Amino acid sequence: MKKIQLIIFMLAVFHVSVSSQQQPESFCGTTGVDPWLTEYFTNRDDFRTESFDPIYVPLTIHLTGTDQGKGHFSIETLYESLCTLNSDFEDSNIQFYIQEPINYINRTVYHNHEHFSAGIQMMQLNNVPGTANCYFVANPAGNCGYYASQGNAIALSQGCSGPNSHTWAHELGHFFSLPHTFVGWEGIRWEHGKTALDYEGQVRRVIERVERDNCTFASDGFCDTPADYLSYRWNCTGNYESNEVMYDQVVTPFRSDGSLFMSYASDGCMSRFSYEQTEAMRANLNSKRNDLVRTSFPDPNIDDKVISFGYPSDSVSIPFDNALAFWPEVPEASHYIIEVSRLPNFGFIVARERIERNEYQFEGLKPGIRYYWRVKAVNANSFCGEFSPTMVFVAAQPTATNDLFTDNEWSVLKTALYSGEPLEMRFDLPESLDAEWMVVDAMGRPLARGDWSFPRGTTWLDTPTSPSWMPGLYFIRVVYNGEQSVRRFTIIR
Ligand SMILES: [Zn+2]
Repeated sequence: MKKIQLIIFMLAVFHVSVSSQQQPESFCGTTGVDPWLTEYFTNRDDFRTESFDPIYVPLTIHLTGTDQGKGHFSIETLYESLCTLNSDFEDSNIQFYIQEPINYINRTVYHNHEHFSAGIQMMQLNNVPGTANCYFVANPAGNCGYYASQGNAIALSQGCSGPNSHTWAHELGHFFSLPHTFVGWEGIRWEHGKTALDYEGQVRRVIERVERDNCTFASDGFCDTPADYLSYRWNCTGNYESNEVMYDQVVTPFRSDGSLFMSYASDGCMSRFSYEQTEAMRANLNSKRNDLVRTSFPDPNIDDKVISFGYPSDSVSIPFDNALAFWPEVPEASHYIIEVSRLPNFGFIVARERIERNEYQFEGLKPGIRYYWRVKAVNANSFCGEFSPTMVFVAAQPTATNDLFTDNEWSVLKTALYSGEPLEMRFDLPESLDAEWMVVDAMGRPLARGDWSFPRGTTWLDTPTSPSWMPGLYFIRVVYNGEQSVRRFTIIR
């Protein structure tokens, strides 16, 4: 009995220490009002434009890790979070894209920085001009994130940057001049039962009244963001309002609006910038930050479900020490993200990589094990694509086979074909040869076969493919005297 109690106690301690490491002390480290915004409010008419054209903004993504090169933000989560970010800014007609390359910084003092000074130094040394610089770190000075004007960049905690988080939108809101909806209250905790009168003198801005008769100069200066005094992370009601009821200086009760990204409401409450906030961000981009404004996305859009098949699949056995995956090329893609797992739900990832080519050499497979993999296509501005269907194969002990042809002796000129297009091949043989050939699909089912007589030297050969062959992966095999060679091709559509 004592032993069991001890184990439970140890587990509890372990759990607490883990969660305290992951849970930042505060949501955001940014306080105060950007001097640009004060100028904007004073001369608002000068900033006004008729245009609501889309603004495209290049982002430089910096991913920090430890000195040993460990702990970088997951590349797949990054793309999912970018999808959320562009959705968050859709109504503002501001859209973001990745300015390559993604910058990996392996320095523990930045990766886990307890003080803003280290973060600011990181930014000053690594910022890429003409882009909005975003740093994903393990610990941004105890916060989920912050914008540092001295560093002219934002830092985001990995743990607060999941696909369902809006920390990125919040910090970019600061980057484009927005203060918190409760600005002035940072670090001051509203206590139940008090009124705004109890906090006058403590709050660093004029306290906004519910009536909003002072909204042009009180708190954040926006009149379409209601009064908000809550400077701690809070959960909302079904109406996206705070559970806490506060009282302003004239003792009018109200609840905070949790739908605004610039509040401290939980991620599930947040969904918007106000109209005036959007106007200010767009004005900031068109003036102070006009070096970030682009008029279009750099890359064409990729369809969400573009990769429908790949190889190996259907539980085929492939040699564990020389296992290659491939899938149809997506011409619009700059990169592919591949995930490999031993579980069909990808609960535990064996490998996750961003690669440029439509093939992947599996590493470290164990013979006799079943592996699951999937892949998606991305580019500078297509983040929201879905993974291919999950494919499965068995890593097997290789069987000894002698290769009949070297790569030079037999080459397939075009490996991605449209239905019915012939397969063009070139043979360059040191001696003549009578061999058998066969086309099989990814499951190994034979579809066509025949015999070839090759003369010595170079031969060009077109093998017809059938319009009845469905899009997918195929192999052509040539066999002679117990030796064989295999080449692969895909039918795209
Ligand atoms: Zn903030």
